Amino acid sequence: MKTAMLSFDVEPDLHTLEYHGVVKGMAEILKILNKQKVKATFFTTCDCIEKFPFIFRNLIKQGHEVAWHGYRHERFDDLSFEEKEESIKKSALCFKRYLNVAPRGFRAVQHSSDSYTFSLLEKYGFSYDSSKTPLNLLQFLFFPKRIKKNFSDFFSNPFPHKINGILEIPTSSFFIPFVSFIPRILPRALQRVYLSVISMLSRNLVFYAHSWDFIKLEGSNIDKKFPHTRVIQNMEFIISNLKSNGYKFIRMRDFKQK
Ligand SMILES: [Zn+2]
Repeated sequence: MKTAMLSFDVEPDLHTLEYHGVVKGMAEILKILNKQKVKATFFTTCDCIEKFPFIFRNLIKQGHEVAWHGYRHERFDDLSFEEKEESIKKSALCFKRYLNVAPRGFRAVQHSSDSYTFSLLEKYGFSYDSSKTPLNLLQFLFFPKRIKKNFSDFFSNPFPHKINGILEIPTSSFFIPFVSFIPRILPRALQRVYLSVISMLSRNLVFYAHSWDFIKLEGSNIDKKFPHTRVIQNMEFIISNLKSNGYKFIRMRDFKQK
């Protein structure tokens, strides 16, 4: 079976650190998912859950998955081992208190998982991680100082694989990752080519965008040139294209490695 996993990182808005994406952006995302009748995974920071618990309870009720993106939106590899553990513990309490669930999956902010991450995730009952994006040239552009990390991620295993007891499900990529960049910037003809290339590379596709990709971003040059309305319109195009190529949409927690 060919599977496609749509995922959304739900966090404070880029630049302004407000929460318009969590409210308005998520409403746009849900409109698309409902219309297309597909379920998705939302990697969420705990400040968003604390502020808007009803939004996430509603997601779970609708059959989507709420997974973990950090206690706050901070790089995981900047935290000491003790701080990482503290972050997981506080977040587990937050998920329990507001949503009455335990998160199964993790995506580190800016791909910042490190060797400690996996043993901690295993200790706290997680089953998968989706922090890595192999074959990603954009990472060199956005995080030019993290050269060693960028190289090791670039050449990491692009297929789902176990690290300690945790299943790593990397974001799909072919030099450009399968992220909001594709619907935001590429014209439709190139989106079609991109989708057929990554479909040839893998039967399991992982896409991600941010909650703030679906709102007008004040002060953002990218949003001026390539507005969020393109992301909204082209998301539907991408979902339909993958459906017609035989992809089934699943939540990440439901992915089983053959
Ligand atoms: Zn993030």
